[in-house]
Amino acid sequence: MRLFTHLPFMLRVNKRKLFPFLITSKSSIRALTCDSKTRGDAKISKGISKAYPVVDHAFDAVIVGAGGSALRAATTLVELGFKTAVVSKIFPTRSHTIAAQGGVNAALGNQMEDDWRWHFYDTVKGSDWLGDQDAAHYMTREAPRAILELENDGLPFSRTADGKIYQRPFGGHTTNFGKGRARRACACADRIGHAILHTLYGKSLAYNIKYFIEFYVLDLIFDNYACCGVIAICLEDGTLHRFRALNTIIATGGYGRAYFSCTSAHTNTGDGNGMVARQGLPLQDMEFIQFHPTGMYGPGVLVTEGCRGEGGYLVNGKGERFMEKYAPKAKDLAPRDMVARSMTIEIMEGRGVGPDKDHIFLQLHHLPREKLLTRLPGILETVKIFLGIDATKESIPVIPTAHYNMGGIPTNYRGQVLTIDMDGNDRSVAGLYACGEVSCNVHGANRLGANSLLDLLVFGRSCALHISENHRAGCPAPNLKDNAGEMSVANLDKLLHANGSITTATLRLEMQKAMHQHAGVFRIGPNLQEGVKKLTKIYNDFKDVRTVDRSLIWNSNLIETLELQNLLVNAMCTMVAAENRKESRGSHMREDFKERIDEYNICAGL
Ligand SMILES: Cc1cc2nc3c(=O)[nH]c(=O)nc-3n(C[C@H](O)[C@H](O)[C@H](O)COP(=O)(O)OP(=O)(O)OC[C@H]3O[C@@H](n4cnc5c(N)ncnc54)[C@H](O)[C@@H]3O)c2cc1C
Repeated sequence: MRLFTHLPFMLRVNKRKLFPFLITSKSSIRALTCDSKTRGDAKISKGISKAYPVVDHAFDAVIVGAGGSALRAATTLVELGFKTAVVSKIFPTRSHTIAAQGGVNAALGNQMEDDWRWHFYDTVKGSDWLGDQDAAHYMTREAPRAILELENDGLPFSRTADGKIYQRPFGGHTTNFGKGRARRACACADRIGHAILHTLYGKSLAYNIKYFIEFYVLDLIFDNYACCGVIAICLEDGTLHRFRALNTIIATGGYGRAYFSCTSAHTNTGDGNGMVARQGLPLQDMEFIQFHPTGMYGPGVLVTEGCRGEGGYLVNGKGERFMEKYAPKAKDLAPRDMVARSMTIEIMEGRGVGPDKDHIFLQLHHLPREKLLTRLPGILETVKIFLGIDATKESIPVIPTAHYNMGGIPTNYRGQVLTIDMDGNDRSVAGLYACGEVSCNVHGANRLGANSLLDLLVFGRSCALHISENHRAGCPAPNLKDNAGEMSVANLDKLLHANGSITTATLRLEMQKAMHQHAGVFRIGPNLQEGVKKLTKIYNDFKDVRTVDRSLIWNSNLIETLELQNLLVNAMCTMVAAENRKESRGSHMREDFKERIDEYNICAGL
């Protein structure tokens, strides 16, 4: 508690949001009954249709997803003796974690003095005082252990001359509670996500984890307010699978694909958030979207903040290093939200680069070529591939691009999913955990660079630890009712035969453009209200969606439609919550409410 004497001004703000309008209604079951009468191919028998064979499985724990957070949870669970299933719509090493470039934070103090308390301070301050401080405390204190564990597991970190793990500076990382600049992001050249995911996956193969790869999870299964597993479709043959388990961990990543330009993988469609919302459980802080300052102009692919950590800087159309003006001390390494806003102001005020003055240059070519080749080889390669530019000689055109979702499924530092009881207090949901980008606790209104990979490692493990403290391995899995999952099957059937007038791709593009136009870097009331109207229409238009492939074998048309259904839930929450939050905080910058308001219950109507 001594720690808090350093930080007397941290505030907790009421931030729970409930979206009851997203609860699935019984109409989807009626739709199936109705369809089955007309087509006769999808009858509900004991609730689950005969047209869809179901295979049942029982495990101690089931994990949805196979990215960094999922694999971290899985390896710990199996080490503790739990029979664990990992269910993923893509092959584990294709998860978005693979794309992380810059680093993972831990106050190792390898190149200069550092302290986890300074890391804690930066995390809470970076979150603009909205992050859960228990979680930030736990994460930053656990960080060195998490990194050394990875090192022992064989992760090939970059090294200093004396053989220690190489650490680079990142935006918002300070020493002595904001006084100096820290070197805290542990790097593996510019491919840290690749190294982490392969280390974790390689390790996991030594254990008896049961992988279900290319299985798309449709929904959670609940009974008597407790989660008792999930229902999934096997993409290869269309069979349905119910996984019974006392413990379910959601680790499905973010929903960057709700935006037109984003750095995330095509598979980041917010499925976990959709599943939780369909159970009537709350999502939290969905208005906070981090725009990474340096997405490649055009393709949106990320150019890591590590570039600026290594000495790169931003330049406007007049050749000025404009960040000196906005953040005289931190300059190009100011927190991401500030850099993204400064770039947007330069562009809006006519000082952008290019024929339309609509982007900014990131300059690296003043740095020694040798340094670029050893520290940023992946960046040189991707810039060459996507833009045809040699970054050792030319500047890289960049623009702020949707990068990270701070909001998601509310959890505590043990990974338990939270909801609200009748008195408005937090209550954990029995049997349900979440970790990684899909969860919402530690990052508040803005995530510090290199804190997300740390979040995966620490909270993936903490889910597993909490499960092991509260259950014995080998406890019988809960029994499922015969009709468990029938609403998901009804929804699947409806979309498989959807014969409306709008294609999935058209509707998705409309949503992505609306999100970019109305819930971007700068936000203002009338524009947000128009966004809510537009998105409500798009959300309702989903009823009129058309799919063309009626097969259940590798039906990407069907899966993209299910993903769109989830994306729409996420997009709708983001837009409505952004309109509702009448203050500026972290990544949420309101032109009409420029101040941060720390009083309790600031959001109208909540
Ligand atoms: C380009 C880029 C660079 C980044 N760089 C950094 C960095 O340097 N440092 C840092 O700290 N953070 C960085 N981040 C953020 C960080 O990498 C991500 O937040 C993190 O990797 C997300 O991991 P995850 O385990 O939550 O999910 P992901 O890695 O996104 O994995 C999601 C998993 O869920 C599965 N899934 C999803 N839906 C379903 C479904 N319906 N059924 C079955 N499976 C499903 C997928 O198959 C996948 O396996 C970066 C992000 C991006 C996009």
